[in-house]
Amino acid sequence: MQKPKIITALPGPKARAFLKRDSKYISPSYTRSYPAVIETGSGVWVTDVDGNIFLDFSAGIAVVATGHCHPAVVKAISEQASKLIHMSGTDFYYPYQIELAEKIAEIVPGGKNKKVFFANSGAESVECAMKLARYHQRRPRYLAFTGSFHGRTFGALSLTASKIGQRKYFAPLLSEVTHVPYAYCYRCPFHLEYPSCNLGCVKYIDDVIFKKIAPPEEIAALFFEPIQGEGGYVVPPRGFIPALRDLCSKYDILLVDDEVQSGMGRTGKMFAIEHYSTKADIYCIAKGVASGLPLGICVANSGIMDWPPGSHASTFGGNPVSCVAASKTIELLENGIIDNAAKLGEIAMARLKSLETHYDFIGDVRGKGLMIGVELVADAITKEPVKDKRDAVVYEAFEEGLLLLGAGETSIRFVPPMIINEEELQVGLDIFEKSLKKIFKA
Ligand code: PLP
Repeated sequence: MQKPKIITALPGPKARAFLKRDSKYISPSYTRSYPAVIETGSGVWVTDVDGNIFLDFSAGIAVVATGHCHPAVVKAISEQASKLIHMSGTDFYYPYQIELAEKIAEIVPGGKNKKVFFANSGAESVECAMKLARYHQRRPRYLAFTGSFHGRTFGALSLTASKIGQRKYFAPLLSEVTHVPYAYCYRCPFHLEYPSCNLGCVKYIDDVIFKKIAPPEEIAALFFEPIQGEGGYVVPPRGFIPALRDLCSKYDILLVDDEVQSGMGRTGKMFAIEHYSTKADIYCIAKGVASGLPLGICVANSGIMDWPPGSHASTFGGNPVSCVAASKTIELLENGIIDNAAKLGEIAMARLKSLETHYDFIGDVRGKGLMIGVELVADAITKEPVKDKRDAVVYEAFEEGLLLLGAGETSIRFVPPMIINEEELQVGLDIFEKSLKKIFKA
């Protein structure tokens, strides 16, 4: 059985030298939780510059869906790199982009009659959706949720309401965004319980926001994540997303599904919205779609993506190498990897749920497939957030050879590459449990 192998004090001597250079030249705005200086990766394993081997439960922020350097993806990228790296889909045509667009139109819910815009990142796919919604609707406003994360460019940041540091001193942002409470049932802002709440959070939009703050006929689109990612891996109750669909249909508001983190099989279905048997009008995709190459995608029904030449474009978006990486990724996902995410997700959930019953400091375990969050608290009654302890657990796991990431104020996310096997999963969960016990002295 393969296990992490830590052969130096962390960070090791070579890592320390890189960290010194990093601190001199790299923007201090990044949010590194621990000093992992990674040199190579294969499957669910990564090796740092000193030869320490870590089990990666972060997948590079939910990106390497098919694992680090999947041989079939590497082959597709290498072959494409020797054929054509760049031409720009803005001014030219190339088969790789067209082939991928056809596939995307097929796999995104809502029939094949769609059009696809290629960008380079999640935020760019959101920017595209924001501009498209305004253009098509000729309406200025947007709705978004508290706790949401849609990116850090000015448009996307205006929708984002996850952590205050992401917004502080960047005003003025778009003033036409109204934020409404997400269905975060573990900490319901209305202090209600599902299902007896009758989805009071959705009713609040209709009864209060639309009557007192934002006229619905001025709202172009409502942006939502089917599972909030950076906000803390928050899974809404069953009826929430269908209710958003109904609300948007009632007022002719476009429903924009940000699947940047939850998409591409991560939740055990190609897109998380499929768990709720609901269809959006516009979809945003990035992260896992190209197994690590930069690619952002905005998809809409053809009747919605009706803007003329020149209204939106991107020099690099959908470059040939990213496109073939995405086509190969989707092929691999459809041929077993999504099923694996669903199956191993259940195993991980069962074990984490049983930890929840043992330890009072595990407030909530939630997720779908291999997109799982564990919310840590002082105790089950007060539910007081324990950010420092959460950070300490993440650090402790790193020292034991497991790469984890926090999410939200006081949660830890589990997003391993989706090719993970059960043995590797249990090894990671063993380390997690050991780290929890040490930090919480349990
Ligand atoms: N949307 C969601 C749901 C995300 O989780 C993220 C990134 O974490 C983004 C958008 C922004 O993506 P990127 O960092 O590629 O711009």
